[in-house]
Amino acid sequence: MNEFQERKVKLKWHEPKKTYDVIIIGGGGHGLATAYFLATRHNITNVAVIERKYIGGGNSGRNTTIIRADYGIPEAMKFYGRSVDLYYELEKETDRWLMFKPKGMLRLMHSEANLTSSIKRAHVNSEWGHQTDILSAPEVARMVPELDMSGGGKYPVIGGFLHHEGATARHDRVNWALAEGANRLGAHIHQRTEVQDLIMSEDGSKVKGVRTNKGDMYADQVLCAVGGHVTKVTSMAGLRMPIRTHPLQAFVTNHYERNFDPIVASLTLHFYVSQTARGEMLMGAHVDRQPAYNYRAGYDFLQHCAHHAMTMLPFMRKLRVLRQWTGLCDMSPDASPILGLTPVDGFHISTGWGTWGFKAIPASGESLAATIATGQQAELIQPFGLDRFAKDRTMGDLGSTGTH
Ligand SMILES: Cc1cc2nc3c(=O)[nH]c(=O)nc-3n(C[C@H](O)[C@H](O)[C@H](O)COP(=O)(O)OP(=O)(O)OC[C@H]3O[C@@H](n4cnc5c(N)ncnc54)[C@H](O)[C@@H]3O)c2cc1C
Repeated sequence: MNEFQERKVKLKWHEPKKTYDVIIIGGGGHGLATAYFLATRHNITNVAVIERKYIGGGNSGRNTTIIRADYGIPEAMKFYGRSVDLYYELEKETDRWLMFKPKGMLRLMHSEANLTSSIKRAHVNSEWGHQTDILSAPEVARMVPELDMSGGGKYPVIGGFLHHEGATARHDRVNWALAEGANRLGAHIHQRTEVQDLIMSEDGSKVKGVRTNKGDMYADQVLCAVGGHVTKVTSMAGLRMPIRTHPLQAFVTNHYERNFDPIVASLTLHFYVSQTARGEMLMGAHVDRQPAYNYRAGYDFLQHCAHHAMTMLPFMRKLRVLRQWTGLCDMSPDASPILGLTPVDGFHISTGWGTWGFKAIPASGESLAATIATGQQAELIQPFGLDRFAKDRTMGDLGSTGTH
């Protein structure tokens, strides 16, 4: 069966109500997962997800779908480890085919510095129950015979870092399954509905609802999960976020006839590649250096990323680029998410997802739902609160983004 020969998404559409218990701004993976877990774990179903375009139209439908938990510090390991565990169960949980595929993620090491940091990371991973092994150069060559182990004579591969749980899933399907699950239990999803302002208490200390192009809606709990547009929406609550929005590009080629099993990334050349279910080679790298809100995809990125990929995988020279696209990433200073309670009563955030948020969708949805339901920051996301910047407790895990 291919990905198009399958049932359609079943969503029910509703007229907006005047009042909800919870309003979620943003119909990306994080907003939808929070609605899903509110409904399935806390029986909170008087919920509206408000999306200015269509669900999954932001980064959650534009990413390269890599799921992994090979993080370098315990706080991140626990959080992403939980997310990967939830992903492994998500098809069963939602009763939907998400095209989830465990592949293993192989990072190529080109230097002693790569090796030292990888050994450290492998120890942290196994300490928290996730399997990451250091491979010798011959083991890497056996695993990916297509590799030029000399790296074009410039970037010789001295070993690899194999994270066994590395996987991919079809992004749209993840979004739709979560939307369906929440919607089936009563959550409303309003597409083409833009939040233009927040309704605040007179003294500005509490959120009361949202002002949209389809009218005002009231709720005592509002979650802002709007990806790269976060600073615009949080400023409506008088909150400044330590976030910069940077475009991130990706592209796919035509299909490669052989099975290319693992996800392969280079720690030095800053690119990664995997094969889609259709056989296309899907590639990405790091964000554009200049902050911006435009979706322009450019030749510069294509040239650099393709050059790096072809250096390591010469067969890619024969492939053709089919599509290139861009998303807007909410980059936090410590490359970690900012989650949960804020100084504004009833106003919650899910941001700082940058280039790494697809893999975190289930765990963040689960923890944010618990935070909204109980009024207490859920344990797993306590280290990721907005208050960490004032307390000087930022996360020291920049290397785990995979493209730094
Ligand atoms: C090219 C690319 C590749 C990536 N690859 C990976 C990867 O391999 N692995 C990984 O883990 N992560 C990856 N990411 C990052 C990941 O996609 C994001 O971190 C994640 O999808 C963020 O989800 P979100 O729900 O927070 O935001 P989004 O999916 O962007 O959703 C936010 C939604 O809010 C809506 N919105 C904005 N403003 C308003 C408003 N005023 N009113 C109503 N709605 C509004 C938007 O339309 C949007 O649909 C990648 C990102 C990109 C761009």
